[in-house]
Amino acid sequence: MKLETMPSDFQKALPLLNKIKEAGFEAYFVGGSVRDVLLGRDIHDVDIATSSYPEETKRIFERTVDIGIEHGTVLVLENGGEYEITTFRTEDVYVDYRRPQSVSFVRSLEEDLKRRDFTVNAFALDENGKVIDLFNGLTDLDNKLLRAVGQPEERFNEDALRIMRGLRFAATLNFDIERATFQAMTTHAPLLEKISIERSFIEFDKLLMAPHWRKGIEALQATKAYQYLPDLADTFEKWQSLLDKMSEDFVFTSSEQAWATLILALAIREPKHFLKKWKTSVNFQKDVERIVQVFNYRLNNELTKEQVYAYGKKVIVLAEELRQAQGLPVDFAKIESLDQELVIHDKHEIVVNGGMLIKELGLKPGPDMGRLLTAVEKAIVIGDLANEKKAIFDFIEQL
Ligand code: ATP
Ligand code: MG
Repeated sequence: MKLETMPSDFQKALPLLNKIKEAGFEAYFVGGSVRDVLLGRDIHDVDIATSSYPEETKRIFERTVDIGIEHGTVLVLENGGEYEITTFRTEDVYVDYRRPQSVSFVRSLEEDLKRRDFTVNAFALDENGKVIDLFNGLTDLDNKLLRAVGQPEERFNEDALRIMRGLRFAATLNFDIERATFQAMTTHAPLLEKISIERSFIEFDKLLMAPHWRKGIEALQATKAYQYLPDLADTFEKWQSLLDKMSEDFVFTSSEQAWATLILALAIREPKHFLKKWKTSVNFQKDVERIVQVFNYRLNNELTKEQVYAYGKKVIVLAEELRQAQGLPVDFAKIESLDQELVIHDKHEIVVNGGMLIKELGLKPGPDMGRLLTAVEKAIVIGDLANEKKAIFDFIEQL
Protein backbone atom coordinates (compact mmCIF):
# COMPACT_ATOMS: atom_id res chain seq x y z
CA MET A 1 0.00 0.00 0.00
CA LYS A 2 1.14 3.52 -0.78
CA LEU A 3 0.01 6.81 0.71
CA GLU A 4 -1.35 9.18 -1.96
CA THR A 5 -0.17 12.25 -0.12
CA MET A 6 2.29 12.52 2.71
CA PRO A 7 0.80 14.52 5.57
CA SER A 8 2.61 17.79 6.24
CA ASP A 9 4.29 16.60 9.46
CA PHE A 10 5.94 13.81 7.51
CA GLN A 11 6.76 16.12 4.59
CA LYS A 12 8.61 18.34 6.99
CA ALA A 13 10.62 15.41 8.32
CA LEU A 14 11.38 13.90 4.91
CA PRO A 15 14.76 15.65 4.57
CA LEU A 16 15.90 13.75 7.65
CA LEU A 17 15.04 10.37 6.13
CA ASN A 18 16.85 11.38 2.97
CA LYS A 19 19.94 12.50 4.82
CA ILE A 20 20.17 9.18 6.63
CA LYS A 21 19.71 7.33 3.36
CA GLU A 22 22.39 9.41 1.66
CA ALA A 23 24.73 8.37 4.44
CA GLY A 24 24.08 4.78 3.42
CA PHE A 25 21.56 3.66 6.02
CA GLU A 26 17.85 2.81 6.09
CA ALA A 27 15.31 5.10 7.72
CA TYR A 28 11.52 4.97 8.14
CA PHE A 29 8.69 6.65 9.95
CA VAL A 30 7.37 4.23 12.57
CA GLY A 31 5.06 3.90 15.55
CA GLY A 32 1.84 5.66 16.45
CA SER A 33 2.11 8.44 13.89
CA VAL A 34 2.01 6.02 10.95
CA ARG A 35 -1.00 4.27 12.48
CA ASP A 36 -2.74 7.58 13.07
CA VAL A 37 -2.15 8.81 9.52
CA LEU A 38 -3.62 5.59 8.13
CA LEU A 39 -6.64 6.13 10.37
CA GLY A 40 -6.98 9.74 9.27
CA ARG A 41 -6.27 10.96 12.79
CA ASP A 42 -4.13 13.92 13.80
CA ILE A 43 -0.58 12.95 14.62
CA HIS A 44 1.56 14.26 17.45
CA ASP A 45 5.12 13.01 17.43
CA VAL A 46 6.90 11.77 14.34
CA ASP A 47 9.21 8.89 15.26
CA ILE A 48 11.97 7.73 12.95
CA ALA A 49 13.68 4.33 13.06
CA THR A 50 17.00 3.73 11.37
CA SER A 51 19.65 1.12 10.72
CA SER A 52 22.35 3.62 11.73
CA TYR A 53 23.75 3.19 15.22
CA PRO A 54 23.45 6.17 17.59
CA GLU A 55 27.04 7.31 17.05
CA GLU A 56 26.49 7.11 13.30
CA THR A 57 23.24 9.04 13.53
CA LYS A 58 25.02 11.76 15.49
CA ARG A 59 27.60 12.12 12.77
CA ILE A 60 24.89 12.64 10.14
CA PHE A 61 23.24 15.61 11.84
CA GLU A 62 24.63 18.87 13.09
CA ARG A 63 22.50 19.38 16.17
CA THR A 64 21.69 16.35 18.27
CA VAL A 65 20.90 15.67 21.91
CA ASP A 66 21.55 12.36 23.68
CA ILE A 67 18.16 11.67 25.18
CA GLY A 68 18.31 7.91 25.40
CA ILE A 69 21.46 6.61 23.86
CA GLU A 70 21.20 3.35 25.81
CA HIS A 71 17.88 2.67 24.05
CA GLY A 72 19.30 3.90 20.76
CA THR A 73 17.45 7.21 20.70
CA VAL A 74 19.01 10.45 19.53
CA LEU A 75 17.07 13.69 19.40
CA VAL A 76 17.76 15.61 16.22
CA LEU A 77 17.02 19.33 15.90
CA GLU A 78 16.46 20.14 12.27
CA ASN A 79 14.17 22.29 10.10
CA GLY A 80 12.78 23.94 13.22
CA GLY A 81 11.54 20.60 14.56
CA GLU A 82 12.66 17.98 17.07
CA TYR A 83 12.76 14.37 15.97
CA GLU A 84 13.50 11.21 17.90
CA ILE A 85 15.61 8.93 15.77
CA THR A 86 15.97 5.44 17.18
CA THR A 87 18.21 2.66 15.99
CA PHE A 88 16.50 -0.61 14.98
CA ARG A 89 16.69 -2.78 18.03
CA THR A 90 15.55 -5.96 19.65
CA GLU A 91 14.74 -6.39 23.29
CA ASP A 92 15.81 -9.83 24.20
CA VAL A 93 16.21 -10.23 27.92
CA TYR A 94 13.18 -9.40 30.02
CA VAL A 95 13.56 -9.42 33.75
CA ASP A 96 10.56 -9.31 36.10
CA TYR A 97 8.11 -9.02 33.23
CA ARG A 98 8.91 -5.41 32.60
CA ARG A 99 11.23 -3.43 30.37
CA PRO A 100 14.07 -5.39 28.86
CA GLN A 101 17.30 -5.45 30.78
CA SER A 102 19.23 -4.63 27.67
CA VAL A 103 18.50 -3.81 24.06
CA SER A 104 20.59 -4.89 21.11
CA PHE A 105 20.97 -2.66 18.12
CA VAL A 106 20.36 -4.40 14.83
CA ARG A 107 20.51 -3.49 11.16
CA SER A 108 17.20 -5.14 10.25
CA LEU A 109 13.88 -3.32 10.10
CA GLU A 110 12.02 -6.58 10.45
CA GLU A 111 13.67 -7.33 13.78
CA ASP A 112 12.68 -3.90 15.03
CA LEU A 113 9.06 -4.21 13.93
CA LYS A 114 8.79 -7.66 15.52
CA ARG A 115 9.42 -6.31 19.02
CA ARG A 116 6.54 -3.82 18.77
CA ASP A 117 3.37 -4.44 20.71
CA PHE A 118 0.39 -4.43 18.33
CA THR A 119 0.15 -4.98 14.58
CA VAL A 120 -1.29 -1.49 14.07
CA ASN A 121 1.72 -0.05 15.92
CA ALA A 122 4.21 -2.00 13.81
CA PHE A 123 4.04 -0.24 10.45
CA ALA A 124 6.97 1.46 8.80
CA LEU A 125 6.55 4.16 6.18
CA ASP A 126 9.31 4.89 3.67
CA GLU A 127 10.22 8.18 2.01
CA ASN A 128 7.97 7.42 -0.99
CA GLY A 129 4.90 6.86 1.15
CA LYS A 130 5.07 3.07 0.88
CA VAL A 131 3.65 1.32 3.93
CA ILE A 132 5.61 -1.69 5.15
CA ASP A 133 3.19 -4.02 6.86
CA LEU A 134 4.79 -7.28 7.94
CA PHE A 135 2.01 -8.45 10.28
CA ASN A 136 -1.19 -7.68 8.37
CA GLY A 137 -1.77 -4.57 10.41
CA LEU A 138 -3.66 -2.99 7.50
CA THR A 139 -6.30 -5.69 7.67
CA ASP A 140 -6.53 -5.19 11.43
CA LEU A 141 -6.92 -1.45 10.89
CA ASP A 142 -9.82 -2.10 8.52
CA ASN A 143 -11.44 -4.43 11.00
CA LYS A 144 -10.66 -2.12 13.92
CA LEU A 145 -8.87 -4.92 15.73
CA LEU A 146 -6.04 -4.75 18.21
CA ARG A 147 -3.82 -7.79 17.77
CA ALA A 148 -0.48 -8.53 19.40
CA VAL A 149 2.51 -8.91 17.11
CA GLY A 150 3.64 -12.56 17.19
CA GLN A 151 2.62 -14.92 19.99
CA PRO A 152 0.37 -12.95 22.33
CA GLU A 153 1.16 -15.14 25.35
CA GLU A 154 4.84 -14.47 24.91
CA ARG A 155 4.41 -10.75 24.30
CA PHE A 156 2.41 -10.00 27.47
CA ASN A 157 4.64 -12.28 29.47
CA GLU A 158 7.66 -10.26 28.29
CA ASP A 159 6.16 -6.92 29.21
CA ALA A 160 2.89 -6.68 31.11
CA LEU A 161 2.60 -2.95 30.51
CA ARG A 162 1.40 -3.99 27.06
CA ILE A 163 -1.82 -5.13 28.76
CA MET A 164 -2.48 -1.60 29.96
CA ARG A 165 -1.47 -0.25 26.56
CA GLY A 166 -3.91 -2.63 24.90
CA LEU A 167 -6.78 -1.45 27.08
CA ARG A 168 -5.74 2.13 26.39
CA PHE A 169 -5.64 1.68 22.61
CA ALA A 170 -9.07 0.01 22.67
CA ALA A 171 -10.33 3.24 24.24
CA THR A 172 -8.43 5.75 22.11
CA LEU A 173 -8.92 4.00 18.77
CA ASN A 174 -12.33 2.43 19.45
CA PHE A 175 -10.90 -0.98 18.50
CA ASP A 176 -11.95 -4.42 19.66
CA ILE A 177 -9.29 -6.69 21.07
CA GLU A 178 -8.66 -9.78 18.95
CA ARG A 179 -9.59 -13.06 20.66
CA ALA A 180 -6.18 -14.63 21.28
CA THR A 181 -4.76 -11.24 22.28
CA PHE A 182 -7.62 -10.73 24.73
CA GLN A 183 -7.14 -14.23 26.11
CA ALA A 184 -3.43 -13.61 26.69
CA MET A 185 -4.13 -10.26 28.35
CA THR A 186 -6.49 -12.05 30.73
CA THR A 187 -4.05 -14.83 31.48
CA HIS A 188 -1.14 -12.50 32.16
CA ALA A 189 -3.06 -9.76 33.99
CA PRO A 190 -1.55 -10.82 37.37
CA LEU A 191 1.82 -9.65 36.04
CA LEU A 192 0.53 -6.08 36.21
CA GLU A 193 1.51 -6.16 39.87
CA LYS A 194 5.13 -6.14 38.72
CA ILE A 195 4.75 -3.03 36.58
CA SER A 196 5.71 0.39 37.88
CA ILE A 197 2.60 2.13 39.13
CA GLU A 198 3.59 5.40 37.48
CA ARG A 199 3.58 3.74 34.09
CA SER A 200 0.27 1.98 34.74
CA PHE A 201 -1.18 5.32 35.84
CA ILE A 202 -0.15 7.01 32.60
CA GLU A 203 -1.87 4.33 30.53
CA PHE A 204 -4.98 4.20 32.72
CA ASP A 205 -5.23 7.97 32.66
CA LYS A 206 -5.00 8.00 28.85
CA LEU A 207 -7.71 5.32 28.79
CA LEU A 208 -10.04 7.45 30.92
CA MET A 209 -9.43 10.57 28.85
CA ALA A 210 -10.10 8.75 25.58
CA PRO A 211 -13.31 9.33 23.63
CA HIS A 212 -14.17 5.62 23.91
CA TRP A 213 -13.20 5.18 27.53
CA ARG A 214 -16.24 2.97 28.09
CA LYS A 215 -14.72 0.42 25.74
CA GLY A 216 -11.46 0.51 27.72
CA ILE A 217 -13.33 0.06 31.00
CA GLU A 218 -15.34 -2.85 29.59
CA ALA A 219 -12.10 -4.56 28.55
CA LEU A 220 -10.50 -3.75 31.90
CA GLN A 221 -13.41 -5.48 33.61
CA ALA A 222 -13.61 -8.41 31.21
CA THR A 223 -9.88 -9.20 31.41
CA LYS A 224 -10.01 -8.72 35.20
CA ALA A 225 -6.89 -6.61 34.84
CA TYR A 226 -8.33 -4.19 37.44
CA GLN A 227 -7.72 -6.82 40.12
CA TYR A 228 -4.00 -6.21 39.82
CA LEU A 229 -4.06 -2.42 39.93
CA PRO A 230 -3.64 -0.42 43.15
CA ASP A 231 -6.66 -0.61 45.45
CA LEU A 232 -9.02 -1.90 42.78
CA ALA A 233 -9.07 -5.57 43.67
CA ASP A 234 -12.71 -5.89 44.76
CA THR A 235 -14.48 -3.68 42.30
CA PHE A 236 -16.01 -6.10 39.79
CA GLU A 237 -19.68 -5.11 39.92
CA LYS A 238 -18.88 -1.46 40.47
CA TRP A 239 -17.41 -0.99 37.00
CA GLN A 240 -20.81 -1.82 35.58
CA SER A 241 -22.48 0.79 37.77
CA LEU A 242 -19.93 3.33 36.55
CA LEU A 243 -20.89 2.55 32.94
CA ASP A 244 -24.62 2.53 33.73
CA LYS A 245 -24.51 5.83 35.57
CA MET A 246 -22.70 7.92 32.98
CA SER A 247 -24.45 8.90 29.76
CA GLU A 248 -23.21 7.06 26.65
CA ASP A 249 -21.57 10.00 24.93
CA PHE A 250 -19.89 11.63 27.92
CA VAL A 251 -16.18 12.35 27.59
CA PHE A 252 -14.13 13.53 30.56
CA THR A 253 -12.83 17.08 30.30
CA SER A 254 -9.90 16.64 32.70
CA SER A 255 -7.94 13.85 34.36
CA GLU A 256 -8.98 15.15 37.76
CA GLN A 257 -12.62 14.85 36.75
CA ALA A 258 -12.08 11.32 35.44
CA TRP A 259 -10.40 10.13 38.63
CA ALA A 260 -13.06 11.84 40.75
CA THR A 261 -15.68 9.88 38.84
CA LEU A 262 -13.81 6.65 39.45
CA ILE A 263 -13.63 7.39 43.16
CA LEU A 264 -17.35 8.19 43.34
CA ALA A 265 -18.46 5.23 41.26
CA LEU A 266 -16.22 2.72 43.02
CA ALA A 267 -17.23 4.17 46.40
CA ILE A 268 -13.63 4.73 47.44
CA ARG A 269 -13.72 6.17 50.95
CA GLU A 270 -10.39 7.92 51.12
CA PRO A 271 -9.63 9.58 47.81
CA LYS A 272 -6.24 10.92 48.86
CA HIS A 273 -5.08 7.61 50.18
CA PHE A 274 -6.24 5.88 47.01
CA LEU A 275 -4.51 8.40 44.74
CA LYS A 276 -1.37 8.18 46.82
CA LYS A 277 -1.25 4.46 46.10
CA TRP A 278 -1.39 5.43 42.42
CA LYS A 279 1.66 7.63 43.12
CA THR A 280 0.04 10.82 41.92
CA SER A 281 1.16 14.29 42.96
CA VAL A 282 -0.21 15.95 46.07
CA ASN A 283 -1.76 18.68 43.94
CA PHE A 284 -3.54 16.12 41.82
CA GLN A 285 -4.84 14.41 44.94
CA LYS A 286 -6.18 17.69 46.29
CA ASP A 287 -7.86 18.71 43.05
CA VAL A 288 -9.56 15.35 42.62
CA GLU A 289 -10.75 15.36 46.22
CA ARG A 290 -12.27 18.81 45.77
CA ILE A 291 -14.32 17.65 42.80
CA VAL A 292 -15.53 14.67 44.86
CA GLN A 293 -16.44 16.98 47.74
CA VAL A 294 -18.38 19.40 45.56
CA PHE A 295 -20.19 16.55 43.83
CA ASN A 296 -21.26 15.06 47.16
CA TYR A 297 -22.23 18.45 48.58
CA ARG A 298 -24.37 19.18 45.53
CA LEU A 299 -26.36 15.97 45.99
CA ASN A 300 -28.31 17.64 48.81
CA ASN A 301 -27.57 21.34 48.55
CA GLU A 302 -27.96 24.33 46.30
CA LEU A 303 -24.80 26.11 45.27
CA THR A 304 -23.89 29.25 47.14
CA LYS A 305 -21.42 32.04 46.65
CA GLU A 306 -19.34 30.66 49.52
CA GLN A 307 -19.02 27.32 47.73
CA VAL A 308 -17.95 28.98 44.50
CA TYR A 309 -15.45 31.05 46.45
CA ALA A 310 -14.11 28.13 48.46
CA TYR A 311 -13.67 25.70 45.57
CA GLY A 312 -13.30 28.03 42.60
CA LYS A 313 -15.45 28.08 39.50
CA LYS A 314 -13.37 25.51 37.63
CA VAL A 315 -13.86 22.75 40.20
CA ILE A 316 -17.56 23.53 40.55
CA VAL A 317 -18.05 23.32 36.79
CA LEU A 318 -16.17 20.00 36.61
CA ALA A 319 -18.47 18.56 39.29
CA GLU A 320 -21.54 20.02 37.58
CA GLU A 321 -20.55 18.33 34.32
CA LEU A 322 -20.56 15.02 36.19
CA ARG A 323 -24.08 15.73 37.39
CA GLN A 324 -25.09 16.44 33.83
CA ALA A 325 -23.51 13.18 32.66
CA GLN A 326 -25.64 11.36 35.22
CA GLY A 327 -28.87 13.10 34.28
CA LEU A 328 -29.05 15.15 37.49
CA PRO A 329 -30.35 18.74 37.31
CA VAL A 330 -27.66 21.29 36.56
CA ASP A 331 -27.39 25.07 36.48
CA PHE A 332 -24.24 26.31 34.75
CA ALA A 333 -25.68 29.82 34.42
CA LYS A 334 -26.02 30.05 38.18
CA ILE A 335 -22.39 29.06 38.68
CA GLU A 336 -21.42 31.81 36.27
CA SER A 337 -23.54 34.46 37.98
CA LEU A 338 -22.44 33.46 41.50
CA ASP A 339 -18.86 33.72 40.34
CA GLN A 340 -19.46 37.13 38.83
CA GLU A 341 -21.11 38.36 42.01
CA LEU A 342 -18.03 37.50 44.01
CA VAL A 343 -16.20 40.65 45.05
CA ILE A 344 -13.02 38.68 45.65
CA HIS A 345 -11.84 35.30 44.36
CA ASP A 346 -8.91 34.91 46.71
CA LYS A 347 -8.09 36.27 50.15
CA HIS A 348 -5.06 38.06 48.78
CA GLU A 349 -7.48 40.38 47.00
CA ILE A 350 -8.67 41.77 50.34
CA VAL A 351 -7.38 45.36 50.57
CA VAL A 352 -6.40 44.90 54.22
CA ASN A 353 -3.82 42.42 55.48
CA GLY A 354 -2.34 41.35 58.80
CA GLY A 355 0.56 43.78 58.55
CA MET A 356 -1.82 46.73 58.28
CA LEU A 357 -3.81 45.58 61.30
CA ILE A 358 -0.63 45.47 63.37
CA LYS A 359 0.68 48.79 62.15
CA GLU A 360 -2.46 50.86 61.93
CA LEU A 361 -4.76 49.32 64.53
CA GLY A 362 -2.08 48.15 66.94
CA LEU A 363 -3.31 44.52 66.92
CA LYS A 364 -1.04 41.69 67.99
CA PRO A 365 -0.17 38.90 65.57
CA GLY A 366 -1.57 35.46 66.52
CA PRO A 367 -4.61 33.21 66.30
CA ASP A 368 -7.04 35.98 67.29
CA MET A 369 -5.94 38.12 64.41
CA GLY A 370 -6.24 35.12 62.10
CA ARG A 371 -9.84 34.65 63.25
CA LEU A 372 -10.56 38.34 62.64
CA LEU A 373 -9.23 38.13 59.11
CA THR A 374 -11.27 35.02 58.42
CA ALA A 375 -14.39 36.84 59.62
CA VAL A 376 -13.54 39.74 57.32
CA GLU A 377 -13.02 37.37 54.39
CA LYS A 378 -16.33 35.64 55.02
CA ALA A 379 -18.25 38.90 55.35
CA ILE A 380 -16.79 40.19 52.10
CA VAL A 381 -17.58 36.94 50.26
CA ILE A 382 -21.23 36.83 51.31
CA GLY A 383 -21.59 40.53 50.50
CA ASP A 384 -22.05 41.88 54.04
CA LEU A 385 -18.89 43.94 53.92
CA ALA A 386 -17.31 46.11 51.22
CA ASN A 387 -13.73 45.38 50.27
CA GLU A 388 -12.65 48.87 51.39
CA LYS A 389 -10.13 49.80 54.02
CA LYS A 390 -12.36 52.04 56.12
CA ALA A 391 -15.30 49.64 56.07
CA ILE A 392 -13.04 46.76 57.07
CA PHE A 393 -11.44 48.73 59.93
CA ASP A 394 -14.90 49.71 61.22
CA PHE A 395 -16.01 46.09 60.99
CA ILE A 396 -12.97 44.97 62.99
CA GLU A 397 -13.46 47.62 65.63
CA GLN A 398 -17.07 46.48 66.12
CA LEU A 399 -15.88 42.94 66.63
P1 ATP B 1 0.63 7.50 21.12
O1 ATP B 1 -0.21 7.92 19.98
O2 ATP B 1 -0.09 7.52 22.41
O3 ATP B 1 1.97 8.18 21.20
P2 ATP B 1 2.15 5.26 20.22
O4 ATP B 1 1.68 4.02 19.50
O5 ATP B 1 3.00 6.22 19.44
O6 ATP B 1 0.88 5.95 20.82
P3 ATP B 1 4.30 5.26 22.11
O7 ATP B 1 4.26 4.93 23.56
O8 ATP B 1 4.60 6.65 21.69
O9 ATP B 1 2.92 4.77 21.50
O10 ATP B 1 5.35 4.25 21.47
C1 ATP B 1 5.78 4.34 20.12
C2 ATP B 1 5.84 2.96 19.50
O11 ATP B 1 6.78 2.15 20.20
C3 ATP B 1 4.53 2.17 19.52
O12 ATP B 1 3.70 2.48 18.43
C4 ATP B 1 5.04 0.74 19.48
O13 ATP B 1 5.39 0.37 18.18
C5 ATP B 1 6.31 0.80 20.30
N1 ATP B 1 6.11 0.51 21.74
C6 ATP B 1 5.92 1.40 22.74
N2 ATP B 1 5.81 0.78 23.93
C7 ATP B 1 5.93 -0.55 23.67
C8 ATP B 1 5.93 -1.72 24.49
N3 ATP B 1 5.75 -1.64 25.81
N4 ATP B 1 6.12 -2.90 23.87
C9 ATP B 1 6.31 -2.98 22.53
N5 ATP B 1 6.31 -1.93 21.73
C10 ATP B 1 6.14 -0.72 22.28
MG1 MG C 1 3.87 8.04 20.19
